[in-house]
Amino acid sequence: MTRTILALVLLAAAASAFQTEPAPKKKVGYTDTPVLPGMKWRVHDPDRPQAPAVDPGTGSPGAQPGKPPSDAVVLFDGKDLSKWQTAEGKEPGWALKDGVLEVPPPRTPNGGDIVTKESFGDCQFHIEWAAPDPPQGDLMNRGNSGVYFFGRYEVQIFDSFGGGIYADGQAASVYGQYPPLVNASRKPGEWQVYDILFTAPRFKDGQLVSPAFVTVLHNGVCVHNHLQIMGSTMHRALPKYVPHEPAGPIRLQAHGNPVRFRSIWARPIKGYDEP
Ligand code: MG
Repeated sequence: MTRTILALVLLAAAASAFQTEPAPKKKVGYTDTPVLPGMKWRVHDPDRPQAPAVDPGTGSPGAQPGKPPSDAVVLFDGKDLSKWQTAEGKEPGWALKDGVLEVPPPRTPNGGDIVTKESFGDCQFHIEWAAPDPPQGDLMNRGNSGVYFFGRYEVQIFDSFGGGIYADGQAASVYGQYPPLVNASRKPGEWQVYDILFTAPRFKDGQLVSPAFVTVLHNGVCVHNHLQIMGSTMHRALPKYVPHEPAGPIRLQAHGNPVRFRSIWARPIKGYDEP
């Protein structure tokens, strides 16, 4: 009996040590990908330096889901998925439990990416998320999800506590383009928040007139400041712009890891003279 208790205590200690252990510092990435324009780094370059870690402090987010501003378009408040659909326009098969949304396991019916029914152009976007605890997935796919503006431009969601994947794929990276300025990641299982200002690209007569820009706060820490986006998010290839409408859906990525979400909202940003 005593032995059983001792074994349980040791098991619990091992489990808790595992939960707080940062991701191993092993280099992963690709060396056969194109070099990014104007840079010395390849797309997903394993040698590109990881963003330095900072402790984001305790200012954001709180123990409870954040309450949106009164003029926000509430996309998820813990109650239902009525503002979302699958890419095929079906009801999402994502799990909703105790006010928290979770990416379902692979091959769940209608369990792929979800998109907002509403379209957004320039906007302020807020999302609270937590990576699985204990961590799931290998270094290239650890707590992987993502927010895609227009379904194209990804701000990465990833378990990057302690490092992990190639720099341009870590949490809060503009995937395949820029790592965050600093790594403000919290531990797996802890709630994290992105506050994002997204400026949509402008096209005229099928040509790019003005690129997209993004400003990102990760757990209240600025990790991108009016960063010019190079084009649509690509994997192992150079980003490029493909003309699209002035407004589009926001997409959440299902990448096989049970990443959780709460409090998601957006505020369209209008010009000073726009009603
Ligand atoms: Mg992703």
